[in-house]
Amino acid sequence: MKVKLKNVFVIYFLVSVIGLMYALLQLGQPCDCTQHLKSTSDLIHAKDKKLVQLQNEVKRLQARGKAPEPQMLPVIYVITPTYARLVQKAELVRLSQTLLHVKNLHWIVVEDSATKTQLVSELLAQSGLRFTHLHVETPKEHKRKESDPNWLKPRGVEQRNLALQWLRENRQLSDGGVVYFADDDNTYSLHLFDEIRSTKRVSVWPVGLVGGLRFERPLVEHGKVIGFYTAWKPNRPFPMDMAGFAVTLQLLLANREARFDLQAERGYLESSLLQSLVSIEELEPKAENCTKVMVWHTRTEKPKMKQEEQLQKQGLGSDPSIEV
Ligand code: UDP
Ligand code: MN
Repeated sequence: MKVKLKNVFVIYFLVSVIGLMYALLQLGQPCDCTQHLKSTSDLIHAKDKKLVQLQNEVKRLQARGKAPEPQMLPVIYVITPTYARLVQKAELVRLSQTLLHVKNLHWIVVEDSATKTQLVSELLAQSGLRFTHLHVETPKEHKRKESDPNWLKPRGVEQRNLALQWLRENRQLSDGGVVYFADDDNTYSLHLFDEIRSTKRVSVWPVGLVGGLRFERPLVEHGKVIGFYTAWKPNRPFPMDMAGFAVTLQLLLANREARFDLQAERGYLESSLLQSLVSIEELEPKAENCTKVMVWHTRTEKPKMKQEEQLQKQGLGSDPSIEV
């Protein structure tokens, strides 16, 4: 059969016209899009759910933000007297690194020296802590000699008093805060600072490894201090170690004369301050009614320098430019 070009063209034309007409008829026809819509609405629903979840998360984080901000917590002023000796830097590094874990803390370091030393200045500058650096030299007649037993003279008295003076000159009654006297050689649990923070006037707790005992502690009955577990001079007004109490800034500012007595009889230094601030019945027991030890009156052994001294005699002592 002979295919005529004309016929092919006519068929092609007809097929095209029919196709075009069908396409035009389809336009505007309602289509069955339910499947498509359903999956879209599922998607929107899922997005809504996610949005609600995110909104709840934002609310939760905002609520958490409303919990006391570090700035809202009362400042803990830690007062540390310190003096130059071989272990000084080691003690201060250890203490500063404990204090770095405590929120809203202000470290008042008072050197027992005629001037601020480079060692302490640099250590504080690099500590990352908020600090105040003071100095006052203990009067010669009150300074303990190498040969004196360690209990003969109270240590760090003028230094702690200078820190109290600084607080009285630089803080106001309206400023919140708690003051704690932390010697440079003790060991402090971080839990102690949580206890200190809620002090209303004067709070107390046990101290480990002190007074010739495993611990000394206030005795508590029905939430009140009724006496003290101590073996040494139990008749002292407040037979407690320096590390075993904290006082609010307000109480110290309201009692501007309260201070440590440089002349205080041995063991009576803590009492010399506390007597003018509080009565035993008013003491606030912390650390689970004074049953938990959170601070230890550790003392660092004096390092032996026998070899160093021998080498020094031969002019071969260690490089003095290397700080220890
Ligand atoms: N301290 C001081 N000057 C001194 C001796 C001690 O400033 O001449 C400081 C010392 O660095 C510490 C506090 O006073 O922070 C208590 O001293 P120490 O630890 O020697 O007393 P102890 O533990 O024997 O009661
Ligand atoms: Mn000590």
